[in-house]
Amino acid sequence: MGQSTSSQETKVQLPDDIAPLPGDHAALKAAISGKLVFPGDPEYLELRKTWNHDTMSFPSAILQPARIEDVQKALVFVDSLYPEHKLDLCIAGGRHGTVCMTKDSLVIDMRRFDHVSVLPEEHLVKFGSGCLLGQVDAACEPHLLAFPAGHNPTTGVAGLILGGGIGYLSPQHGMAIDCLQEIEIVLLDGKVVRCNATNYPDLFWALRGGGGNFGVVTEFVMNVFPVPREVYAGEAVWLPFPLLPFPRDVAKRVLSYLENASRNVSGQMAFVCGGPLAISLCHFGELEKARAEVDSAVSSFGWTPINTMKPMSYFSGTQRLAVGPKNDRQGPGFYFIRALILTSFTEEMIDILWEETHKSNPNNTSVLAVQTIGGKTNEASPEETAISNRNFKYWMLILGNWSKPSERSAVIEWVNRVNKRLLPFVSSDYGAVALGEVDHLGGEGKPGRRLYDDQAWEKLRKVKTKYDPQNIFHKNYNIPPL
Ligand SMILES: Cc1cc2nc3c(=O)[nH]c(=O)nc-3n(C[C@H](O)[C@H](O)[C@H](O)COP(=O)(O)OP(=O)(O)OC[C@H]3O[C@@H](n4cnc5c(N)ncnc54)[C@H](O)[C@@H]3O)c2cc1C
Repeated sequence: MGQSTSSQETKVQLPDDIAPLPGDHAALKAAISGKLVFPGDPEYLELRKTWNHDTMSFPSAILQPARIEDVQKALVFVDSLYPEHKLDLCIAGGRHGTVCMTKDSLVIDMRRFDHVSVLPEEHLVKFGSGCLLGQVDAACEPHLLAFPAGHNPTTGVAGLILGGGIGYLSPQHGMAIDCLQEIEIVLLDGKVVRCNATNYPDLFWALRGGGGNFGVVTEFVMNVFPVPREVYAGEAVWLPFPLLPFPRDVAKRVLSYLENASRNVSGQMAFVCGGPLAISLCHFGELEKARAEVDSAVSSFGWTPINTMKPMSYFSGTQRLAVGPKNDRQGPGFYFIRALILTSFTEEMIDILWEETHKSNPNNTSVLAVQTIGGKTNEASPEETAISNRNFKYWMLILGNWSKPSERSAVIEWVNRVNKRLLPFVSSDYGAVALGEVDHLGGEGKPGRRLYDDQAWEKLRKVKTKYDPQNIFHKNYNIPPL
C-alpha cells in the first residue's frame, strides 16, 4: 500500500499500482474550466465515493466538467489515445451503478450538470444529466408534475433513464424512456447533438434503453404528468412472531389485490431477511375513493399493528422513502444486487422468498422486494425504444447487503442462489442494463433473457458501430460494435 491522502477518510490508503493517466493530461487540465483530480490530490478520496461501497475503486483520474466544452475536450482527449492506450472511460452520474468508478480509469463525473427547469405549460422538464432524482422531483413538486422514476432520491437520473427507468408511476405512464422528448449528448468526436424523434432518430432510439454506450449525455427533456396533491399511500408491516407461521396468506392476498388493481395503484412487497413482511402502496386515484379502496384492501390482508396508510404528498412521501442522506453520492453500505423483470408472481415464489429470507438468509439486512410495474410499461412499440421486450408485470429486487467483510461471500452466494431459483419466472434482466453489468441470466455461453429481442440487439449494434466503432464507451452493459 502507498501513501495515505489528507481527507476526512483518513483510513483509506492509496494502492501503489494505480495506473497513471496516459497522454498530455496537463494540457487537458489547463484547457478545461472544471477539475481534473488525480490520486493524492486532496479531493480525490471524496470524489471517488460511490453509493455501493463494494464497487468503489481507484481511478487514474476524475474529470469534473463545468461546461459542455469540457466534456467535448475530454472526449477528444480520450479518442486521441486510442488505439495505443485503451483507456477505461467511466461516466459517473448518481453512482448507484457498479462500473462508474473502476480502477485505472478516467472518470467523467457529471455532477455539476445539475440544472433543472420545469415548463409547466408544456408539461416538460429539462434537467442536467448529473442530477439526482430527488433534485428533479423537488423542482417538479410545486407544479404537481412528475415522470416515472425510482423512489430512491439519491439515484442518478442518467443511469436510471438510459437503462429504462421504472417506478410507482410506471403502470400509468410506462418507463422513463417512454416519456423522453429529447436528449443532448456529446459524441466521441466532440460534436454536440440534440437528438429526438426527427433529429438523429437512430441515436435517440438507442439511447432509450441502450445505456451509456453512445456518448456523454448532458441534458434530458422529459414529458411530465399531473399527480394529485395527495396520494393515499404508506406502509403496512407484518412482524414474524416466533410461534406464528409466516404470513403466507397475507402475501397471497396482497398479490391478488395487486394483480387485479387498476393502473392507479402501485405496490411493493418486501421480505426482509429474518424480519417482517412489509408492503408499501401508492394509490393515485381520487383521494376519498383511494382511501376507501386501500383501507379495505389492507384490512382484508390480515390484522397488523403497523399501518401508516394516509394521504401524503407523492413527492415528500412515497418518493423520499429511502433512508440516508438525500443528496449524497455515497450510500449507506455494501451491496450486491440483482434486478429481474417477472411475467408473473405465484404462490410458489412467495414460498421461495419466505424460505430464502427466513430459513437460508445470510444476515438480517438483505431484502427481497417485488414491485408492480405492468400497465402502460407494456405498451411501447419496439420502434420507439430499444427496450423491445416489454413482457413486464413485476420487478424483483434481490438486494444483498452487508456491513462486515466476513458476510460478503455468503451474501453474494445467497443473491446468486435466489436469482437462479427465480429464473423460471423471469422475462428479462433489468439489473444488467440498469446497473451497468454483464447479462446474468445466460450462463454457459447462452444469451441471457435480455430487455432487447434479437432484432433490437442487431439494431443497437449497428448504432453502436456508427457512433462508437472502437467501443470506447465500454464501461456499461456493453453493446459490442459489429
Ligand atoms: C438503491 C437503488 C435503488 C434503485 N431504484 C431504482 C428504481 O426505483 N427504478 C429504476 O428504474 N432503477 C432503480 N435502480 C437502478 C438504477 O436505475 C441504476 O443503478 C442506474 O444505473 C443508476 O444510475 P446512476 O446515475 O445513479 O448511476 P451511475 O453508476 O452513476 O451510472 C450508471 C451508468 O450509467 C451511464 N451513465 C451515467 N451518466 C451518464 C451520462 N451522463 N452519459 C452517458 N452515460 C451515463 C454509465 O454507463 C454508468 O456506468 C436502483 C438502484 C439502486 C442501487
